[in-house]
Amino acid sequence: MSGARVLVVGAGLAGLAAAVELARAGIAVLVVDQAMRPGGAVHRQPLPGGRSLASPAQARRWRALMSEVEAQRERIEFACETRFGGIDHSGAVLLTGAAPALFRPRALVLAVGAREAVQPRPGWTLPGVTTAGALQTLLKTTGTPPQGRVLLAGSGPLLLALGAELVRTGRPPLAIIEAGQPFSHPAPSLRLPVSYMVEAARHLARLVAARVPILTGAHLRRIAPDAGALMGEVDTRHGPRRFLADHIGLHDGIRPNDAGLTDCAALPVLRLGDCREALGAAAALADGRARGRALAAQLTGTTPPTATSALAREAAAQARLARIYAHDGAAQLTDLPDDTVICRCEARTLADLKALGPAPSTRQLRLDGRFGMGACQGRFCAEWVARIVASDFGDTPRPVLGQPRWPARPISVADLLAAPNLTSGETE
Ligand SMILES: Cc1cc2nc3c(=O)[nH]c(=O)nc-3n(C[C@H](O)[C@H](O)[C@H](O)COP(=O)(O)OP(=O)(O)OC[C@H]3O[C@@H](n4cnc5c(N)ncnc54)[C@H](O)[C@@H]3O)c2cc1C
Repeated sequence: MSGARVLVVGAGLAGLAAAVELARAGIAVLVVDQAMRPGGAVHRQPLPGGRSLASPAQARRWRALMSEVEAQRERIEFACETRFGGIDHSGAVLLTGAAPALFRPRALVLAVGAREAVQPRPGWTLPGVTTAGALQTLLKTTGTPPQGRVLLAGSGPLLLALGAELVRTGRPPLAIIEAGQPFSHPAPSLRLPVSYMVEAARHLARLVAARVPILTGAHLRRIAPDAGALMGEVDTRHGPRRFLADHIGLHDGIRPNDAGLTDCAALPVLRLGDCREALGAAAALADGRARGRALAAQLTGTTPPTATSALAREAAAQARLARIYAHDGAAQLTDLPDDTVICRCEARTLADLKALGPAPSTRQLRLDGRFGMGACQGRFCAEWVARIVASDFGDTPRPVLGQPRWPARPISVADLLAAPNLTSGETE
């Protein structure tokens, strides 16, 4: 193997599918992932000794993809526990972690998936409150549920999926609090792909059999510490309810994990899978394959393949899902008490935001307010700051904290020192 490699960041469905297509075209690929093992969000693998909770269909899809990867191992190298820090104007990429490096790849493929949105509410930063995805990660990596009572709240299909997984492990959640009313939309539901309906029916059957209450049109308004546990105060369509839990998993939808991903004119940079558009697992796989083939054609000077219709199909299905789960999040944001934490990195509250006055500038928000200045650089709070400032819950609030900048994650001085000197074109 010789010559500079293509760097693929993210060993989920999209990144691996792209790596396979590039390798099939004779191109050497380095795949890095910050996780311990390839898998991404859907196929996250259990730790040694943990049992897999993958469904038979998931296990089949993963085995099929991994056998394609194995067939190309001569050209695909993996570096796990290795994090992409960013790319500069010259095309130099910084990797930190287990395989630190500073080099110029032949092309950069960003397949870093999606992130969860979690809407601020009183008590959302208390110990024991996590994202639903964090609870799912625990389940997938250890095969065991969290100890104690679990309450799931927010909105989106992940809540039903996680609830059903908890039932499978013998520890059903106390309830699922869903802000939307997904069961009141039979027409768009019936137009979802069959695979979506089968999966939803499987989850619902498990939840109903375990008598898990699914409260729709309900909102977890406040979380408060209560005798060593967490009291969740819920507004339902039939009045207030309270749930005493040990763990609360919050989830308010999925967004592309694109904060800090910058483009670069010096080399081809591609975004694919959920980090380009969060369209789900089937779309991530199709996107990885299609764009991986197109990049291979670009790099080898061959004819690009024709476009696939799979992505358009998944985009239509996801748009229907969004309609099915639609709810009035604006009311929940405008009703927040002033002491609600909005930026959890720097513990900045709604009162701090209001103190900046009407229509604060990006400079005021960042320098005076400290919003978006903490470790996450606004990855989690920027959306809520924008919506509150605009008093608008529309689809595209103005990015009031400014455009994302690299690094994608904070980089320590030790990380910089660990990275070898810049090599121009990484070679074997
Ligand atoms: C919390 C969560 C849970 C989900 N659960 C499900 C589910 O149960 N079922 C389902 O069908 N869909 C689920 N989804 C949707 C799912 O993410 C996608 O449909 C699919 O996994 C997208 O594939 P992908 O390859 O684009 O990204 P992913 O599968 O997410 O893979 C992205 C990879 O990039 C890595 N990465 C991220 N940032 C960096 C970095 N800076 N450096 C190095 N590596 C990095 C991550 O570790 C990850 O392995 C979930 C999404 C989220 C956010």
